[in-house]
Parts: sequence; C-alpha cells; structure tokens
Amino acid sequence: AQRLASQRRKVDETLSLFKLSPEHLQLVKDSMRAGLEAGLRRTGPFTIKMLPSYVCHTPDGQEYGKYLALDLGGTNFRALLVRFKKQRTRLYHKIYPIPLEIMQGTGEELFDHLAECVCDFLDYMGMKNARLPTGFTFSFPCEQTAIDTGNLVSWTKGFKATDCEGHDVVNMLREAIKRRNDFDLDIVALVNDTVGTMMSCAYEDPKCEIGLIAGTGSNLCYMEDLKNIEKIEQKTMTEKKKETFKGEEDEQGGMKAEKTEGDAEMAKMCINTEWGGLGDDGSLRDIITPFDIEVDQQSVNPGKQRLEKMTSGMYLGEVVRQVLLDLTRRGLLFRGHVTETLKTPGIFETKYLSQIESDNLALLQVRCILQKLGLDSNCDDSIIVKEVCGAVSRRAAQLCGAGLAAVVDKIRENRRLDHLSITVGVDGALYKLHPHFSHVLQETVRVMAPQCEVVFLPSEEGSGKGAALIAAVARNKQ
Ligand code: ADP
Repeated sequence: AQRLASQRRKVDETLSLFKLSPEHLQLVKDSMRAGLEAGLRRTGPFTIKMLPSYVCHTPDGQEYGKYLALDLGGTNFRALLVRFKKQRTRLYHKIYPIPLEIMQGTGEELFDHLAECVCDFLDYMGMKNARLPTGFTFSFPCEQTAIDTGNLVSWTKGFKATDCEGHDVVNMLREAIKRRNDFDLDIVALVNDTVGTMMSCAYEDPKCEIGLIAGTGSNLCYMEDLKNIEKIEQKTMTEKKKETFKGEEDEQGGMKAEKTEGDAEMAKMCINTEWGGLGDDGSLRDIITPFDIEVDQQSVNPGKQRLEKMTSGMYLGEVVRQVLLDLTRRGLLFRGHVTETLKTPGIFETKYLSQIESDNLALLQVRCILQKLGLDSNCDDSIIVKEVCGAVSRRAAQLCGAGLAAVVDKIRENRRLDHLSITVGVDGALYKLHPHFSHVLQETVRVMAPQCEVVFLPSEEGSGKGAALIAAVARNKQ
C-alpha cells in the first residue's frame, strides 16, 4: 500500500506541472497583451505577427447576390457558390481532392489545377459566363498589402509547391485563369480562416468582432481601431489624405496621427493576430514543461509557435504521449513496459483525448481505446491516462481563455468602456468536439475578464460563407 501511495504521489507531481495558478494565468494574459501591442507597432520584432487583413467592416445585412468562395486549406480544395437573399443564404459546393504530386509539384501546376477545378464547378453550376465576385480563403500565412493581395510567407501542412513562397497568391490564381482563357473571375478578397469565421458569425450577430480557431492550429482575429495599427497607419493616411485625417509629415515621411473626424476615430480593421507565436521570445518559460520542450524539439519548427504547441489539435496528443512515455519509463504506468507503439510520434491523436475524457465513457472503454493503440493497460493505467488527457486539454483551454481575456479587455479599453458585451465566432474540431474544452475556455474568460460579457457562437460554413461575405462587403464599400 505504501508503494502505491508513493507511486500515486509521483503521478500527481507530474500532473501538477500542467496546473495553472491564477498568477500563471495573469502572466499569460499580460504577456498576450504586451504581444498584441508590440505587434501593432511599426518595427519588430513581432512574436505575434498581427497581420492586417484589410477587412474594415463586418456585414450589415445589406449583402445580396451571388458570390464564389474558394477554399484551399488542407488536403482538399472547395468551391462554393453562395447566394445571399433576404433572411436566407443558399450554398452549393463541390470538393476536389488535391493529389500529392500537385501539392508538391510546381506552383504553376498547383494553380492550373485549382483553375481547372473552378472551371468544372462553374460548368456544373451553369455559370461559366458570370464573372462572379470571388473570395479566396487561403489558410497559410500571408503578408497582405491590400484586401486582394498577399504574399505567401511559407507553406505548411504538407504543401511544398515550388515558386510560391514570397509570391502573391491571388496573382498566381489570376494568371492560371488567364492561361486557360475560358472563364473569368473577379477575385476581390484574400481571406484567412479566422477572418472568415468572424464574418460568417457577424452575419448572424452584429456583436461578433472576434474570430477564434481551435483546430489543427490555434489562432484569433479581432477588429482593432485603425488609429492603433501603427504599421499601416502611414499608408492608410496617405490614401485618405486630409479628408478624414488632419496631420503633418513626420520624420519618416508618414503622417502624424491627428484625427479630426468621428469617422476616422471609429475606423477599424480586422487583424489576424497569429497568436500561436506567443512565447517564442521565452515569455512563457514559467509554465512550459519538459514535455512541451520535447514536443517542440521534435517538431518541424523548433522554437516557433510555442503557444500553438500547447493549445491545438496538431500537438495535444503528442504532449499526452510524452507524459505517458515518461510515466512508463519511471515504472508508474503500463507496468513500466515501454512499447514501440508508445515511442511512435503521432500515434496518440487529439481525437482520443475527446473520446477518453468523455464523461459517460466507462474505464473499460478507455482500456479498449488504449488496446486499439496497442497499449495494454489495467484499470489503474486507464485512470492515469484519463487524468493526463484531462490535465493537458484543461491547460490548453485555460491558455486560450487567458489569451482571449487579453483581447476582450484591449477592445474594451479601446472603446473606453467599463463593460463590454461582445461575441466570438468559433470554429475548429477541438472547440466543437472536445467534451470540456469549450466550457473551460468560457469559464477562464469569465474569471480573467470580469468586465466583459463574452458570448461564443460556433460558426457554420465559416470558410465558405465568410469568404463570400468578405467579397460582398469589399464590393459594397468600394
Ligand atoms: P482545421 O483546423 O485544419 O481547419 P479541424 O477543425 O477539423 O480542421 O481540426 C483538425 C484537428 O482537430 C486535427 O489536429 C485533429 O487532430 C483534431 N481533431 C479531430 N477530431 C477531434 C476531436 N474529436 N476532438 C479533438 N480534436 C480533434
């Protein structure tokens, strides 16, 4: 019995590494706030990239007509026709798999393939001559300089097509369409998936000014006051001249901020924060565990995206596997039997956390799941595995909650309010399918941002409907 008690204590000690005290959560909130502020400045370094999206308005219900939405994010390409009518949205879509040889061929081949898929879709819809206004959701990091222009920073998620990085992806699609010369599109917007999510939810709820993704990755966008976005302020002011801004040239040749009209004071732009980069400057060192370090070291981008590696679907299973590996090596789990399976990266997918943590799952069923993974467990093992999963997913939700608390408080202070009521549009399998993630996230925001009332709205068809809405809004405001 004494040996059992001592083993239990050691397991608890390991689990306690994932517990976040109120001080830890405050540190995450403060560090996120500092990262948001720094990312808006003119000069780096930017651990949180804070990429301007050039989306300056959420939908106002005046969006009508037919739009095309194109969505390239993972292994599939989706083409959608979205029709906005009074009170009703209609969606028609087709999915096209991207063959591996195209994902990893030349950029020209990839974009020719996309153009071919669009052509097929327009044929199918009988709309080949329509020159539809189009929103292009492209879920890879892009440095945008206008609503319809953005250079690919780097490929992720298995894409490797040559001659794309550093190039404007909208231009590449336009060129591919030109080469075919059998249809035309009016590509009006390049869209990040967070922004698409925010817009699709804002169509239902005008208070939605934040988009959150908890899926493969972890990211957030929100509506920031234009006057706070130093890095694009110069350009915007040059364009708007002195109609809305009265200013004088500063030493960098830009215009000093001196707003005269209410309009300029109110102007906003959606910022794609790329918040997964929090901690890349070491600011999360107090909460990072040896298991996080192991996951980071074994990833394709060591030292990068530290918050993302503690909060998203691509990594949570790996964090759990590292803990199980450690407990087993110390003889505290699986009778100390380290199997080849347990040593295999990627074997413990994040969906197993959802299954194992499900409230009405009997321990016997947990053992079944572990058995299927080739892990032979007894009853005590299954209890410990369930606790490890719980500790890792709870910390993930709390970290997102503390980050979100920083964002809502910033928006509240921007507007000089004592109390802010705001809606967050959310998407991603981790948020939608995990049994506890959404609840812990919401509870953390409630505690960490007591002056904000935050409503969460799961998005439906975020990437398609959102891209179409951005196209509609961009056209209406031109
Ligand atoms: P994406 O973020 O790529 O658009 P998803 O929202 O579908 O796509 O998220 C996929 C990620 O979610 C994968 O990393 C996967 O491991 C994880 N995932 C899939 N199913 C579940 C589930 N039931 N619970 C938690 N995570 C899941």
